[in-house]
Amino acid sequence: MELDAIESQSAYLDYNATAPMRPAALTAMHEALSAVGNASSVHHHGRSAAGRVDRARRSLAELLGCSPGEIIFTSGATEANNLALHAAYAGQQLIVTSAVEHPAVLETARALTCGTPDSLTILPVDRYGQLDTEALNASFLGRDVSLVSLMLANNETGVITDLSPMIEAAHSAGALVHTDATQYVGKLPLDLGELDVDLMSLSAHKFGGPQGVGALFIRRGIRLPQRPLTFGGGHERGWRAGTLNVPGIASLGAAAEAAKRNLLEDASRSTKLRDLLEGELLSRLPGSYVNGAGAPRLPGVTSITFPGAPADAVLSSMPDVAASDGSACAAGAPSPSHVLIAMGLSREDADATIRFSLGYSTTEQEVRRAVASTVQAVTHVQALMSATAGP
Ligand code: PMP
Repeated sequence: MELDAIESQSAYLDYNATAPMRPAALTAMHEALSAVGNASSVHHHGRSAAGRVDRARRSLAELLGCSPGEIIFTSGATEANNLALHAAYAGQQLIVTSAVEHPAVLETARALTCGTPDSLTILPVDRYGQLDTEALNASFLGRDVSLVSLMLANNETGVITDLSPMIEAAHSAGALVHTDATQYVGKLPLDLGELDVDLMSLSAHKFGGPQGVGALFIRRGIRLPQRPLTFGGGHERGWRAGTLNVPGIASLGAAAEAAKRNLLEDASRSTKLRDLLEGELLSRLPGSYVNGAGAPRLPGVTSITFPGAPADAVLSSMPDVAASDGSACAAGAPSPSHVLIAMGLSREDADATIRFSLGYSTTEQEVRRAVASTVQAVTHVQALMSATAGP
């Protein structure tokens, strides 16, 4: 089948990899692209571009419950995570993070501390993907801790971290707290007036904005040396050089407005559809199980293991369903998902896991199509695997 034909008939259940752009975000991007103007220029074209950026900053701040001046626009969550960790770590002290973080945090932390291996503690999670405050407290003993970086929701399982006790413990130890909220923002209500993190990363393309733009929240008044990753024109209050991506930022702002407007409605619809998908697959495919099912999870995400059915084989037998084996960011990597391994899955089960992620425009029809195709593909692959298995 031609790629276009597959796309038009397929169920798109890969929102955690990237969500379809919201119509308002497309319009805002088109308008900004059609106008000329560098947000730093003083003439009216420049002022109009700067106006789009200001509006986006306000819209994002409203979604997050912070003030516009606390937002630095970046090229995405990877850059925001890098920026946060680089600024907060001055060498020698300790960074604490978790085994289920996105590589944009884990690899940055490893790179920053590579000369001093004692400087990095990676906390384990339980089989539900959850952290233990006692383990966090124990990691601080006798150490000068600069930063605790823990994600708000996991990209592979949707498991939500109970951050408040972790924040309290980290602050008592004198550490700054960063959270990678990339998968959480725009999916559930978030109020930075209550969630007392110092730094938070996000990315527009996970909530209906474009790829290649995101933001870092930096709480006003925290003690953080400014260590930009790029040098040049001092944009974004000196945190980042490079001409602002006005169309991307304007579009991010429009996506934030739309996400805020429909937040609770979208969350409840996604949860209902996710529960339908899970319920049908678990009952029709005995032996399958949901990772992190006992923990609070994001509305539209489910990570399901189908023992005996490698996910790459299942996914290639159902071209009408767009889902993901493990995390799309690590797709093509030969190693199994570090998140599922950290939760105690065997390598075989981790390799037999599919992440379905639904969102604001998922329909029941797509879910029913995905159920039918997944049941057929998993049954087929399981039969093939047991036929080819040795005695
Ligand atoms: N953190 C998490 C939790 C993610 O899911 C992703 C995207 N897969 C990133 C960071 C990186 O985001 P970006 O694509 O904006 O660099």
